[in-house]
Amino acid sequence: MPARIIDGKKIAKHYRNSITEEVKQLKQKGMVPGLAVILVGENSASQTYVRMKRKTCEEMGIHSVLIQYGDQVGQNELLDKIDQLNNDSSIHGILVQLPLPEGIQTEKVIERISPDKDVDGFHPINIGRMMIGEDAFLPCTPYGILKMLQYENIDPSGKHAVIIGRSNIVGKPAGQLLLRENATVTYCHSKTENLTAYTRNADILIAAAGRAKFIHGNDIKPGAVVIDVGMNRDEAGVLCGDIDFDSAKNTAGYITPVPGGVGPMTITMLMYNTVKAARKTIENGIQ
Ligand code: NAD
Repeated sequence: MPARIIDGKKIAKHYRNSITEEVKQLKQKGMVPGLAVILVGENSASQTYVRMKRKTCEEMGIHSVLIQYGDQVGQNELLDKIDQLNNDSSIHGILVQLPLPEGIQTEKVIERISPDKDVDGFHPINIGRMMIGEDAFLPCTPYGILKMLQYENIDPSGKHAVIIGRSNIVGKPAGQLLLRENATVTYCHSKTENLTAYTRNADILIAAAGRAKFIHGNDIKPGAVVIDVGMNRDEAGVLCGDIDFDSAKNTAGYITPVPGGVGPMTITMLMYNTVKAARKTIENGIQ
């Protein structure tokens, strides 16, 4: 039987409806959630992502501000801007679109963002809070994956989850969040030997390596839940994931497509985090 397709667009819409509702309620209390997006350089993929994020803000009634710099911007200028946004009460979330040009220390920039406005969930304070199970801004892509699993009533508890990729923004936190849900987690990465020995044993397989269609149907355990985070171009230049969808859909039990899978959920959780940041300022009385 072919896999059930996990429809990221439909699930994103479901969550976006409730986030939009909360935006309306906040507005009635005189609060407009605000997101500042900092874009440095001319990277076309980054420009596209920023455009999509701002469009979603607009659709959901979230105020968004774009701050754009050329490649040559100095690190100090960037840090000063972040200080200014940290102190701006109309801004609840700050996002610096990655990657940054060479010469700028990404960690320094991320660490300058107030943890209370770190809606990407990349600040070490939020990562630490996530690790020990405290309330935190969770990184949007792994959080979106978790929400998709919840929507599909897939309980990771006791399942073997295999994560391909160990980046700080996707692979590592995805494993941590599944561990929190009581999965048994295995991390695979570029130095893993005999990758398919792991993938074939995964009840939940998360592919976040950035390698076009490199996992095939016969690398997957029959009936597994397959979440494809990859965003690649195939030989024909067509957007594709890390999973060879055509062969994998005949083995997997559930599978996310690319596009239309994880991507829409990532942006949705960014909106969720921005609204959460705004709500927290009311709760903490620091409007
Ligand atoms: P990254 O390059 O920082 O990390 C890739 C990871 O994959 C590394 O840890 C590396 O060890 C591992 N890896 C690379 N080749 C491998 C191989 N052959 N076998 C096993 N492991 C291998 O990338 P990232 O930022 O984590 O992103 C991963 C992919 O997810 C990219 O395609 C990216 O575009 C995509 N992405 C999608 C979304 C979304 O919303 N859909 C969000 C973030 C990233």
